[in-house]
Amino acid sequence: MLLFTPGPTPTPEFVRLAMSAPTIHHRTQEFEEIFATTRNLLKEMLKTQEVLMLASSGSGAMEACVTSLCENKLLSINSGKFGERFGKIANSFGIPCVEIKNPWDIPASLDSVMEALNNNPEIDAFCIQACESAGGLRHPYEIIAKAIKDFNPEIMVIVDGITAMGVEPLDVSCVDALIGGSQKAFMLPPGMSIIGLSQKAIEKIERRNVGFYFNLKTELKNQIKNTTAWTAPTTIIIGLCAFLQEAKKIGFENIYQDTKARSLACDMALEGINLKIYPTIPALAMTTIADEQSDEIRKILKNEFSVNVAGGQDHLKGKIFRINHMGMVPLSEISWVINAIELSLEKLGRRKFNGFANQIFLEQYYKIKNQG
Ligand SMILES: *Cc1c(COP(=O)(O)O)cnc(C)c1O
Repeated sequence: MLLFTPGPTPTPEFVRLAMSAPTIHHRTQEFEEIFATTRNLLKEMLKTQEVLMLASSGSGAMEACVTSLCENKLLSINSGKFGERFGKIANSFGIPCVEIKNPWDIPASLDSVMEALNNNPEIDAFCIQACESAGGLRHPYEIIAKAIKDFNPEIMVIVDGITAMGVEPLDVSCVDALIGGSQKAFMLPPGMSIIGLSQKAIEKIERRNVGFYFNLKTELKNQIKNTTAWTAPTTIIIGLCAFLQEAKKIGFENIYQDTKARSLACDMALEGINLKIYPTIPALAMTTIADEQSDEIRKILKNEFSVNVAGGQDHLKGKIFRINHMGMVPLSEISWVINAIELSLEKLGRRKFNGFANQIFLEQYYKIKNQG
């Protein structure tokens, strides 16, 4: 079965092999060396002042950022399941939260953010997704982050980049916390989250010193010494180290360019066989198709072509399907997925199969890839 869900993504053999070594103790020089190498590679990739690795899924890092960086009132963008989560986290800690709610195919607007900031001078932290995975939507987080910092540089900008980190080069010049997760573009098993931090975020974390397990001050103190506050997820970090070393060898920019080519070419290929892209501004991490027969297509893909793509959640259940582009996806696999989608449409009596989708895909893929 080809796993083509936008998280978890498949773990490549070289990473699985690295993780198959016997478990080592986390308080050893041996592990500290691996931790140091991983930390340095992550900093190089993210271009943030500091970086933390936490033993939790992505939501743990989202919670840690909200509790550590928001003291008075949170402003949160909700264009889907993951944006909604920031508001739920704030509510569960009794942190006042203003939410800007949009349909799941519509990105956050700068005007709505500035209006909320003007109406709520207590706001001291802002949360947004780079890619809202619920509808495969790309938010213009860079433009909003810049405007917020021009308005008041003390407002902490928290970007959930879980489905953007490792997908495209991310501008962190106005970002205080950039969140990532192991099971997306890093192609690792679920269970580890990443936070890139700015100098301003570090200062606020140290001044506030909140929480116990997710106390980022405690983590910072330990991780700059290449160890962790609690038992580290050693196996996943060993896998991450192997992944980042390989990614560096290939070149981060080359991975970004390949992902972009696969993603844009896939969008065009599926539009070429009359499928409809769901979000108004699609993210590169996934292709999201709006289709009334989404469940039927997914069933045929799984049962007849051994391809597992994701469906939708809540009101989009049965209305969309999502195809992953995160990670080092072999061209042969995505090419087969696109072919299988066209074959599924023939089985549903919607078009006669002639390989047109794959023809568009390959033409566009090589065209975009060679643009450099
Ligand atoms: C996957 C994902 C998360 C993290 O969810 P977990 O299940 O806690 O790992 C957060 N935000 C986005 C945008 C995601 O795609």
